[in-house]
Amino acid sequence: MEPSDTRRTTHSLAPDWRTPAEQSGYRTTPDYAETVEYLERIADGYPDTVHIRNFGKTGEGRDLKLVVVSKDGVYDPEAIHSSGRAVLLAQNCIHAGETDGKDACLALLRDLVLDKDRARLLEHTAFVFIPVYNVDGHERRSAYNRINQNGPELSGWRANATNLNLNRDYMKADAPETRAFLRMFHEWLPDFFVDNHVTDGADFQYDITFALDVTPDVFPSTAQWLRDVVTPQLVDRVNGTGHLAFPAPIFLNDDTDPSQGLAFNENPPRFSTGQMILENRPALLVEMHMLKDYKSRVTGNYEILRALLELMNRDAATLIALNRDADMAAARLGTEPARNVPFPLIVARNGETTPVLFRGYEFTRDLSEISGALAIRYGPKPSNVTLPMDSGVKLAVSVPLPAGYIIPPQWTRVIDVLDAHGVTLARTTAVWTNNVERYRCSEMRWPGKPFEGRYPILRGGSVEGEFGHFGACTRSTEALTFPVGSAVVPLDQRLSKVVIHWLEPEAPDSALRWGFFDSIFEQKESGEAYTLEKLAREELVKNPTFRARFEQQIQTDPRFAGSPGDRLRFFYDRSPWGAANRVGEYPVGRLLSMSGLPVS
Ligand SMILES: [Zn+2]
Repeated sequence: MEPSDTRRTTHSLAPDWRTPAEQSGYRTTPDYAETVEYLERIADGYPDTVHIRNFGKTGEGRDLKLVVVSKDGVYDPEAIHSSGRAVLLAQNCIHAGETDGKDACLALLRDLVLDKDRARLLEHTAFVFIPVYNVDGHERRSAYNRINQNGPELSGWRANATNLNLNRDYMKADAPETRAFLRMFHEWLPDFFVDNHVTDGADFQYDITFALDVTPDVFPSTAQWLRDVVTPQLVDRVNGTGHLAFPAPIFLNDDTDPSQGLAFNENPPRFSTGQMILENRPALLVEMHMLKDYKSRVTGNYEILRALLELMNRDAATLIALNRDADMAAARLGTEPARNVPFPLIVARNGETTPVLFRGYEFTRDLSEISGALAIRYGPKPSNVTLPMDSGVKLAVSVPLPAGYIIPPQWTRVIDVLDAHGVTLARTTAVWTNNVERYRCSEMRWPGKPFEGRYPILRGGSVEGEFGHFGACTRSTEALTFPVGSAVVPLDQRLSKVVIHWLEPEAPDSALRWGFFDSIFEQKESGEAYTLEKLAREELVKNPTFRARFEQQIQTDPRFAGSPGDRLRFFYDRSPWGAANRVGEYPVGRLLSMSGLPVS
């Protein structure tokens, strides 16, 4: 064909801006190269509105991309914030088999630049999104990665290239992707965060379920706005487009019997949306329903993002003020009187339920000769029933706060995680001895199998002890000495909740629970049997109380009575030699005051 013919052809046809998923009739989702190619086509065509930047690399060395959509070509986060616009950050493909959000964001990006009506959504907002977060998982494409999911033909893998689930990694920050995310997040400090997923679990009529955490660990004014304004508005706006949304993640109280009601889901900071509570920012978890066809899911995901952008555009000033107040409240946590208010570490259901209308499907339950248990089978007929939904929550674990913390310098990996989170800390310039509060911890039990590459002591699990068992930590005030270079971490900072959740042992994703302090539980010295025999005989003569306790344990604890080693260890453990092991002495100090510390 002659060049002139080519020109005439391209002139006579409008450019095809359909996304790759749209072009395939929602049969397929593009791989990373095709995804980036489409994004770059738009960025090249509309450089005054769209900008793509890298924010780090995956384990396998791929670029992590961030797309910025801004009405006036201003792409600097600080400049956007100071223009009074609210920034929405949407994340896709943290579970890379769940691509609905990615394909929705490509379509929304296209519409924001091409459709004048949509472009108005950027008047008081900027739209920033990660097209694919778990890129290495995304490129592990297969038809066999998502057994429950109804399309697309090929999809990515749940975990990253070291088989870590990035949506369990926010607090401990083991993965390079998490560390890149945290750096990027603090550069942007978005006003609202969205994490797009696809469900596992039950069948129901809703194609969209979503969660906005409003539990007592969320800044109260933000929680109220999310509950009273955002939640009903999102439902109305999404349902107005022909989709059907339910404003809670749907977990059944009994996997095989939906009539038992809907369960409360804890949201600790190993999850993206739990991390956002510590960042003082509202977060929306979107779960598209896996059994719906891909077109319904992508377009539904599009509609909830559009609805949120509409709300943010309308209420930008409100949202920005809420976030400013939440940051200020967090920075006051180390001061009186905030320290006298118990700080929530774990929020759990309290047993209260509220009846809700639930649009499910009729089901039968039959004894299965395969599993030997009742098996649920969903039918095609809708069933609208009123079900109890967990609605009441309580503070399951809370602590009074110190003014700050001090970490001895040898605990490098513990300090490194705080650095990765962008926490402000200082180092001591001289040896420092003073009264601090400290924990002694005991009775911990570790799980028998790894979880996320570690042996953490977490809550939950379907089997008793699956995640180990958290014993007890008791607090006392003692004079302790901290070496030069100890990390001093004040709570008068925006990220105070990150500090508390990392350093309070009982917090759900603390450094102690994730195994960063496991070595404090190891006994490094012990007594030989012939030495302990002598020690024991002397103690039994000298100390009648001791003798009584020993004899009582022999009578009441058959396992102890039958173990020569345990019977001898009884005397070692209670002797000064035993105490010298310092087993369970948590090395982090809780500072009673921030004054008098030798920091530069
Ligand atoms: Zn997911």
